[in-house]
Amino acid sequence: MQMSYYEVLGVADNASESEIKLAYKEKLLTNHPDKGVTQQTLITLIKQAYTTLVNPVERQKYDESFKESIKRLGFNVSGDGLDTYGLEEFEEDEAGWNRECPRCQIREGITLTEEDLENGSPDGSGGYDIIVQCSSCSLWIKVKYYEAE
Ligand SMILES: [Zn+2]
Repeated sequence: MQMSYYEVLGVADNASESEIKLAYKEKLLTNHPDKGVTQQTLITLIKQAYTTLVNPVERQKYDESFKESIKRLGFNVSGDGLDTYGLEEFEEDEAGWNRECPRCQIREGITLTEEDLENGSPDGSGGYDIIVQCSSCSLWIKVKYYEAE
């Protein structure tokens, strides 16, 4: 699977502009073009990722087209084919919900905010589904939840 721009820069999907700028500088420093042709390609990719993600309009367009490309890869946005977790399997804190990634085991690898939950898709039986990606290993999972009474 092609790396997303977020993976290229090594930031989370919800990274702020300053996190993106910082990650960009670090990536440029650690991937110096002198190191060969592959590095040069990577630098181009890093620059592309940065220019897109640092611009809110371009970033939104990118996010949407990336979701589309995931759909084409076989899972649709409802997350068919992905492992499903309930929101009760997440820890709740003031920032939202988080859990350990089932694949790479990183703590708080999977996070959801209140805002994310507002964007879930109704599952047809009273609940909602949302797909979310591990910020570390990029695993996608599906989370099922129900509106609070
Ligand atoms: Zn992971």
